[in-house]
Amino acid sequence: MDHFHYVDGVLSAEDVPLPAIAAAVGTPVYVYSRATLTRHARVFRDALGILPAARIAFAVKSNPNLAVLRVLAAEGYGADVVSVGELERALAAGMDPEAIVFSGVGKTAAELARALEVGIGQFNLESEEEGLELAEIAVRMGKVAACALRVNPDVDAGTHGKISTGKAENKFGVPFDRAAAIYGRLAQTPGLAMRALALHIGSQLSSLDPLEAAFTKVGGLMHAIRGAGHAVTHMDLGGGIGVPYKTGDVFPQPAEYAAMVARVTGNWGVTLMFEPGRVITGNTGVLMTEVVRVKEGAGAPWVVIDAAMNDLARPALYDAWHDFAAVQPDGERFVANIVGPICESSDTFAMARDIDLVKRGDLAVFRTAGAYGATMANTYNSRPLVPEVMVDGEKWAVVADRIDPATILAAERVPDFLAG
Ligand SMILES: *Cc1c(COP(=O)(O)O)cnc(C)c1O
Repeated sequence: MDHFHYVDGVLSAEDVPLPAIAAAVGTPVYVYSRATLTRHARVFRDALGILPAARIAFAVKSNPNLAVLRVLAAEGYGADVVSVGELERALAAGMDPEAIVFSGVGKTAAELARALEVGIGQFNLESEEEGLELAEIAVRMGKVAACALRVNPDVDAGTHGKISTGKAENKFGVPFDRAAAIYGRLAQTPGLAMRALALHIGSQLSSLDPLEAAFTKVGGLMHAIRGAGHAVTHMDLGGGIGVPYKTGDVFPQPAEYAAMVARVTGNWGVTLMFEPGRVITGNTGVLMTEVVRVKEGAGAPWVVIDAAMNDLARPALYDAWHDFAAVQPDGERFVANIVGPICESSDTFAMARDIDLVKRGDLAVFRTAGAYGATMANTYNSRPLVPEVMVDGEKWAVVADRIDPATILAAERVPDFLAG
């Protein structure tokens, strides 16, 4: 469910026709709908309402835009951050430090110290080594760090290999069979207050079964750790629920997810923590582009657009599908390949796809681009960094500027030794 719909034949975001944004800001541009974001945040939060105690930390990496974080903060969301950069964003958006969780395998000493200084709510340790390093820093700073131990449950999430994180061969967490011993040792380390196990087995999951298997496994581990005399007061169940990118695809609903969680965790007696990303922000945005030209091909024609893999990396990285739609379709369709201008063949959004008929100068969108879209953008081929717009009813604003190549060039130097 989203608020991108056709009004008198023109695709609009809430009450704003997309051509108005294209005319003012140019293309490519991400457009977010505040109403859609709020709706998804509420549906997920309300679904978890059946659980006795639940806290939600939005996975900032899925969409770190400050305006997006501000909307979620107002909905009572905390943040799951994976770098100090994301930590500073969450704070800048007004999130309560206590509601911030710090995940990631490579937190540096400086990052750990900064997170301690601002008083975040929980460190999700990914190794014993990290725990010992954090303990040392915490003792030096006179602080105690509340921690979860991230466990690798060795469960196949059944998703794309590059976004699967819960198999033994993935870099995340500690091995399942060593987790209890590591938890026990860290629980006795001054400077740490071990309180939870954490897991996150992957992203864009299309079935609840792997999640249920992983939660069940880690629940057993929790009982074993308690049996050994250690406290476990929280359990962090991660994120990973997928969204339909293709019209007609069916994915687990938040209510089904919550019912499964309630069933599995009924006797745990903990505060449950969740780290959803994509399911909150995916539907919230589209990437709007203009057709540069349509070029004859050996097979289907090439629709060359002004958005590229540097603006939306998912198709190139994960062979991901994004529905493509004309902003002002005339009802005719054709089969075409959709590509960007970047000089490599991975800059391909779709091959031989049945799409709205488009021609030079037409506007079109990729749908479901609110998660892992702008956040992955870069400036490959010296292209500008793509801007972001947020719509709210009939109001709209640029919430991230287009960073032009001249600005990026200004940060580069020719050193003296080349000057002669
Ligand atoms: C990426 C990530 C998430 C969010 O994943 P989604 O699939 O977007 O819900 C949550 N937790 C951790 C630790 C992550 O790395």
